[in-house]
Amino acid sequence: MAAEKAFIREVGPRDGLQMVGRILPTDKKLEWCCREAATGVGEIEVTSFVNPKAVPQFADAADVARGAIDIGGFVVAALVPNLRGAEAAFDAGVRHINCVISISDSHNRANINRTTNESIAEFRRIIDAATARGRSDYHVACGLATSFGCTIEGAVSEKRVLDVAEQILTAGADEIILADTVGYGSPRQVGRLCTDALALAGDKGVACHFHDTRGLGLANVTAAIEAGVRAFDSSVAGLGGCPFAPGASGNINTEDCAYLLESMGFDTGIDIERLVKLRRDVESWLPGENFTGSIARAGLPKSFGRPLAAV
Ligand code: ZN
Repeated sequence: MAAEKAFIREVGPRDGLQMVGRILPTDKKLEWCCREAATGVGEIEVTSFVNPKAVPQFADAADVARGAIDIGGFVVAALVPNLRGAEAAFDAGVRHINCVISISDSHNRANINRTTNESIAEFRRIIDAATARGRSDYHVACGLATSFGCTIEGAVSEKRVLDVAEQILTAGADEIILADTVGYGSPRQVGRLCTDALALAGDKGVACHFHDTRGLGLANVTAAIEAGVRAFDSSVAGLGGCPFAPGASGNINTEDCAYLLESMGFDTGIDIERLVKLRRDVESWLPGENFTGSIARAGLPKSFGRPLAAV
């Protein structure tokens, strides 16, 4: 029987690089995408269509997007903070956009100077923009930041998360991404919220975006998997910090996440050893950055890849 698939979306070139001071040249970003796609990663969030004055790292967003589309062989996704970013992404040929809204009003205001409800209204305008260009050609996902807690407000009500998720799905989202960029989530909480979000989403996608800020990143992946989630964001070498905790570890690590999923019997399609080779080069391109990950240090176990029944 073929193994059930689990899906990893690489977010390093976006989420990882947005915290990095050194600007990685466009050709290196494209080399990263090209080589990671060759390891079997099926989707990469290649850039962010933000105001380049706010984040100079992404001043080359349109060039990276076009270059990545030319490489081919993987889904090119981009983060967009607003309608303007969505239009710029569409103009560059991007068909898969990830919007982001914070469940916590205070966090949303601090990030983009809007209330959560104002961002929901903006999301509807983004859906309208995709519809004007031919809705079925586009995949519009929405990340729900602070779904598991907020650095400003503390606890976030699960009811409010589901309420916003429902509004986003009703607006026409193809996928919601429960996001914990501040690393507040814990496994039972993740299991509960994922179960409820999957029930709400029906045939629409539910993905999770965890950070390992407090060491629970992969435990949360396990809880989400047990609840039925099959799609995860992660970053090669765990690149990407927490803007509210300087020096803290960032996104869950792609190599380790792929290892976890494969060891649980899922097929990720990813060649982990090849991914570790790419990781070494990404490290060399970004000296002084904070890299994490256990597989890169210890290697895969000798038992890896043998069916359980044969062990
Ligand atoms: Zn993140």
